[in-house]
Amino acid sequence: MGKDLERSKASLVEEVGALRKRVNILEQLAEQHANGQKLQSALYRIADTTSSAQDMLSFYKTLHDIINSLTVAKNCFIAVLDRERKNVYFPYYIDEHYTRNPDELIPIEEFTSTLTGIIFSTGEVLHADNAGLAELNRSGEANVRGLTAQDWLGVPLKHEGKILGALVIQSYERGFLYGQQDEDLLVYVSRHIATALHRKQADEELRATHDGLRLANRRLEQRAREISTANLKLEAMLEERRSIQEKLIYDALHDVLTDLPNRALFLNRLEQALKRSKSRGEVEFAVFFLDLDRFKIINDSLGHLVGDALLQQTSRRLLDCIRPGDTLARFGGDEFCMLLDNISTQQQAIKIADRILQKFTAPFILDAQEVFTSTSIGITLSPMGYEEPEAILRDADAAMYQAKSQGKARYQVFDKGMYEQAMTRLQLESDLRQAIGNGELVVYYQPIISLASGKITSFEALARWQHRTLGFVAPMDFIGIAEETGYINELGAYILEQAMTQTNRWRSRIAAARDLQINVNISGYQIKHQGLLETIRACARRSRLPINHLKLEITETVLLNNMDAAKSLLSEVSNMQVQLVLDDFGTGYSSLGYLHQFPLSALKIDLSFIKSIDKNQRNRAIVRTIQALASSLALEVVAEGVETEAQYNIVKDLNIGYAQGYYLGMPMPPEDAERLLADQVQ
Ligand code: C2E
Ligand code: MG
Ligand code: MG
Repeated sequence: MGKDLERSKASLVEEVGALRKRVNILEQLAEQHANGQKLQSALYRIADTTSSAQDMLSFYKTLHDIINSLTVAKNCFIAVLDRERKNVYFPYYIDEHYTRNPDELIPIEEFTSTLTGIIFSTGEVLHADNAGLAELNRSGEANVRGLTAQDWLGVPLKHEGKILGALVIQSYERGFLYGQQDEDLLVYVSRHIATALHRKQADEELRATHDGLRLANRRLEQRAREISTANLKLEAMLEERRSIQEKLIYDALHDVLTDLPNRALFLNRLEQALKRSKSRGEVEFAVFFLDLDRFKIINDSLGHLVGDALLQQTSRRLLDCIRPGDTLARFGGDEFCMLLDNISTQQQAIKIADRILQKFTAPFILDAQEVFTSTSIGITLSPMGYEEPEAILRDADAAMYQAKSQGKARYQVFDKGMYEQAMTRLQLESDLRQAIGNGELVVYYQPIISLASGKITSFEALARWQHRTLGFVAPMDFIGIAEETGYINELGAYILEQAMTQTNRWRSRIAAARDLQINVNISGYQIKHQGLLETIRACARRSRLPINHLKLEITETVLLNNMDAAKSLLSEVSNMQVQLVLDDFGTGYSSLGYLHQFPLSALKIDLSFIKSIDKNQRNRAIVRTIQALASSLALEVVAEGVETEAQYNIVKDLNIGYAQGYYLGMPMPPEDAERLLADQVQ
């Protein structure tokens, strides 16, 4: 029985033991179940944390809390490789003994022999307890310094095989070691961190790319703005340059005073018009060449400012006479030119010329005074068949010249006859320059007789041109040309020297001619010329004629046109004892008021008064008045153009001192004059 009891006691003990075991297993299972549930919910929380949007630090903190709730993980850090994988930083670092600056970048090289570095290079979990760590140190695999953990567990942060960093927990608690579960947990967490890190890094990369793009964009915009400003500046510069260029071109083609086209632009338009009329025969045009009458007098007497104002007003009046397509140009001085389109007949042109002349009948108001001027117009028409624009101008000019010589304030239409004249004139111009050298220019002498004694007191030297082909050319025809070409100074000096030399020769040869005087004509152009005084002195020196035997004849117009120049020069001439004679008296302004302003010694009554003195009472009265005036001014009087005995008697009766004319002696060559002088003695 005892045995049985023993046996049953033993089986009971066995049963109890088995039951205990079972209970133990059940308890273990229950704990495992509880742990499993805890783990399960932790894993959910981890997954949830990963998917919920929060900043990385809070994310790490939450994960750490979860890990900490499952195992001993007071010390936990996350090491991350930067994008270039050259540096390591610790965005999360909790340690009982150490702190780290989360922003500090530590070069990867410094991790070569650290535990974290081993994870970076192997990409494997590293779990080492105190002994393991010592072993690693000893074998030289790692160099663990300072306070060493009792257990150290690190897992790589891997994403798609790429190591982004490491997650490490460590315990300084003696006797505690991490188990497989902890490893699994940490690996699990590490995946979530890696995913988040990868996402963050991708985000950062994207942001960096975005930022880069935005920066590049901003730079581009900035550059675009700079380019556009530079462009604007360039455009402004170009515009300025263009406008300067335009201004230069404009100035080169326009007259400054009137703003009208100048000669160059006019010629250009004329050329175009000529081309058009040649290609389409029906398009014809007219050219007017205009020159103001009396402009010089106004300019000299009222001053250049008034002269300028007159030219400006003239341009306005002329513009009123033309149509939009026409051109009015100023050629300088008082010369204007018009190009009138669609004019083919003389009648049409004349109508416009009349309109222009009409415009000039009204006075110009200049400097608060009324000034009258007129214009002479030369007209030519394209149906004349021109080839060159210059030829058109030349002919219009010639026609204008004709209009002037016919009495001014009129127009003249160019015709072929005038062309011949113009050509002759051109020929004369060039021939005249050779006339002196060729001996074609000679001096004729016309006696001036004292009406009291009947004796020759003087000769008037008159220039004669014996042209080799044209024969005799009248002074009227070549003096004007000489004046215009400036050749008059040379010509005048030549005549002066010839006449003075001749006179002195007569004085020395013929006793009765000792008091003989010589009258020499002086042109207005010579008066304006600086060298006149010197010429007179030189001629006096060379001819040896006492200077008081010389009388210079000047016309009224010359005096008035060059009032100031004339006054000073003539007073110098008169100081030299040269006598001054007013020629053609009565033809000009007939204003006697100015006579006393000049140092005159005589005046010559123009032959137009003498011509009909025997028939015309009025002329006789005029001559008588002139005589009275002259004697009151102590001036000698010469009657010019005495052609008949009747005229001779009348001028004698009127007490005129001297006379000159065909009746008393023609202008003659020096041999004849010498004979006349010699005869006179007997
Ligand atoms: P002027 O000085 O009035 O000269 C007088 C002009 O009247 C001369 O004309 C002369 O031949 C002309 N004459 C003289 N007696 C009579 C007459 O009874 N009846 C008519 N109908 N005419 C008479 P010429 O020689 O043709 O000279 C014309 C003008 O040319 C001169 O007018 C003078 O102004 C100018 N001239 C002539 N020679 C020279 C010169 O050497 N230098 C300058 N600057 N002018 C000159
Ligand atoms: Mg004369
Ligand atoms: Mg005269």
